Amino acid sequence: MLSSLAPRADFPLLAANPGLHYLDSAATSQKPAAVLDALRGFYETANANPHRGAYALSAKATDVYHEARATIARFVGVSDTDCLIFTRGTTEAMNLVVSSWGRANVQAGDEVVITALEHHANFVPWQQLARSTGATLRIVELTPQQTIDLDQLRSVVNHRTKVVAVTHVSNAVGAITPLDEVVRIVRSRSSAVIAVDGAQAVPHLPVHFDALDVDFYVFSGHKLLGPMGSGCLLGRRALLEAMPPYQYGGDMIEWVRDTESTWNVLPHKFEAGTPNAADAVGLAAAVTYLDGLGMGNVRAHELALLERAEAKLLALPGVTVYGPPVAQRSGVLSFSMTDVHPHDLATILDQHGVCIRAGHHCAQPLMRRLGVSATARASFYVYSDESDVDALVGALTAAQSLFS
Ligand code: PLP
Repeated sequence: MLSSLAPRADFPLLAANPGLHYLDSAATSQKPAAVLDALRGFYETANANPHRGAYALSAKATDVYHEARATIARFVGVSDTDCLIFTRGTTEAMNLVVSSWGRANVQAGDEVVITALEHHANFVPWQQLARSTGATLRIVELTPQQTIDLDQLRSVVNHRTKVVAVTHVSNAVGAITPLDEVVRIVRSRSSAVIAVDGAQAVPHLPVHFDALDVDFYVFSGHKLLGPMGSGCLLGRRALLEAMPPYQYGGDMIEWVRDTESTWNVLPHKFEAGTPNAADAVGLAAAVTYLDGLGMGNVRAHELALLERAEAKLLALPGVTVYGPPVAQRSGVLSFSMTDVHPHDLATILDQHGVCIRAGHHCAQPLMRRLGVSATARASFYVYSDESDVDALVGALTAAQSLFS
């Protein structure tokens, strides 16, 4: 029996619900007590508006906010800490890139490259940018195993390509993009900027931004044990410094005159208004917790669970699993079962205490290419163990007998 990597007792919600099999971590993760304690600790010992007050408590809030940034920067391999911008999550971070860098740099005649694997958060902003600027949107198609077709990427990228936006890991089928290969292809054919959606990568794989040689990288805190409403944009300093602000007001201001204003330095230029300091502190606690487990161990644990789950699922009649072979996937098992709609499956599984996601996973372009409107998706994390796999298989067997 494969036990969990992190003790379930560390997660108050799981500890309070021993019969719960939470297999929806790709949507959001559960939170360890260490994160909840950090949030409470901020409000109990450091709560003041950072950067604003000339008093000790405000200075303390400022310090812990900056320490949180440094901790998270170390975790994701960013040596220039000012180039880590706090956002509300992946969606806001990618919209920041598109609104700020995109509107300043993309025009009619340019080409914007995305892929059919993208979450809507890394699809629609670029689609809308192309529509509003008159640039051409190029969508790289997928292999039969729902990985990005690198041959097609090679043929699509050219001197007109201004940006290539790709996911590091697909939320819908778990496919891991070989980013090094993508970077080689793009750099050898264009001077395009590379923007990466890391929402499903940072929680599950070791990620080292400086070593990736990409230009922008975004992720969400809530998928990696951190608070909802937290997330980050990582970017190259030269690009971030050249970009116009995304929002106005608060700490992003340097001077305001009646008819013009100037902007603060990085990272403040992109953090308008009162910063979400408490959640940054919570996110720092989350990455410290993951660091303690070791991201290599996190990956190995998920892979072992995935192998067992996939073997057991494929032994059931009428089950189709989507995506590439297990070794090229993160902890996501996307599947369908003949004659049972994914939504019905999720409802029946819920009656067995098994939480899975059913739907298009905010990846409708991918679903269309799969020829389905929805899939069922089980996803694993550090607190998952083999009893979760067995509960999933048992509940699926019960669902099958109900519909046969
Ligand atoms: N990109 C991917 C690959 C995701 O899985 C998600 C969330 O499901 C997002 C983007 C959007 O993340 P958020 O809702 O945290 O902004």
